[in-house]
Amino acid sequence: MQNKIITEAELTNFGDVKTLSSKALALLEQQKTVWALLRKNYDDLKSIQIKIFNFDGIKIRLQFNSGRIRSTSAKVDSESIKERKCFLCLENLPEEQVGISFNDDFLILCNPFPIFKEHFTIVNKMHVSQTIFRNFQTFLAIVKKMGDKLTVFYNGPKCGASAPDHMHFQAGSKSVMPIESEYDSSKEKFGRIIYKEGSAELFAVDDNLRKMFFLEGSDATEIESIFNKLIGKMQELLGIDEEPMLNIVGMYKNGVWRVIIFPRAKHRPDYFFLNDSDKIIVSPASVDMSGLIIVPREEDFQKVSEDEITKIYNQVCLGKNRFYELTKM
Ligand SMILES: [Zn+2]
Repeated sequence: MQNKIITEAELTNFGDVKTLSSKALALLEQQKTVWALLRKNYDDLKSIQIKIFNFDGIKIRLQFNSGRIRSTSAKVDSESIKERKCFLCLENLPEEQVGISFNDDFLILCNPFPIFKEHFTIVNKMHVSQTIFRNFQTFLAIVKKMGDKLTVFYNGPKCGASAPDHMHFQAGSKSVMPIESEYDSSKEKFGRIIYKEGSAELFAVDDNLRKMFFLEGSDATEIESIFNKLIGKMQELLGIDEEPMLNIVGMYKNGVWRVIIFPRAKHRPDYFFLNDSDKIIVSPASVDMSGLIIVPREEDFQKVSEDEITKIYNQVCLGKNRFYELTKM
């Protein structure tokens, strides 16, 4: 394990190491010098194709990224998971890969199949299941430590995590996902406050594409308390004990956390399961829900229009009635 952690002395050769986010950026530079596959994949990202769609002030970016085919079409059923070697376990990492320790339990690694020009996976050092229960405070801590340069996100085990058996978060370059810059205007235009505890507030937001919750405040305990109430309410509504399907995005600025929660009905839209010419390979997770939709096939990049985007969101978001029930906090 020790040989998987880069020393601060070595990191200083690659950049500033004053904050956790700058350490992560230095790590990425170090990894580019020693790990050819990672370097190539970050180079390829420079020539990536993007299309931008506008929905009444809401921006959606479509990214054609062939490097993501493995993740987007990953088999995440429990049989397939059992049969493969876990790619987040420290003993299975490529020889070149090293990371930075966070809070004893986690390790910050560079994602070798990037969506962002800075893309990290923050993995538990142990092979423990993906769950936000017991890990929400860690999520807020990472958001706070990295939020000056990076946006942190979590994908539930059944809606986007390609390693549902190994606890991890991700972080990507700040202000790339459209929803980050639309947060204030969307809250104003489409949001309504539904709950408050101390300085923390919960908003229900329906922007006609997505149904989501915005949770903000300056006290981590209050934020967690509201988050737990919301999760409890979802479990009650869905009649389940396990974690409801959700994606979570976290930002931090001027002492305030902003957390976006996307409650989900499905992992993959119907398009994913259609045949041949009707099929679209898309597996929405936090990044896609936040307005940066990733398609790993060029034919899908050509095909997807406003109509498909609306239907994709419609199919994977929690339905209108259930969402409305949830807003009665
Ligand atoms: Zn593992």
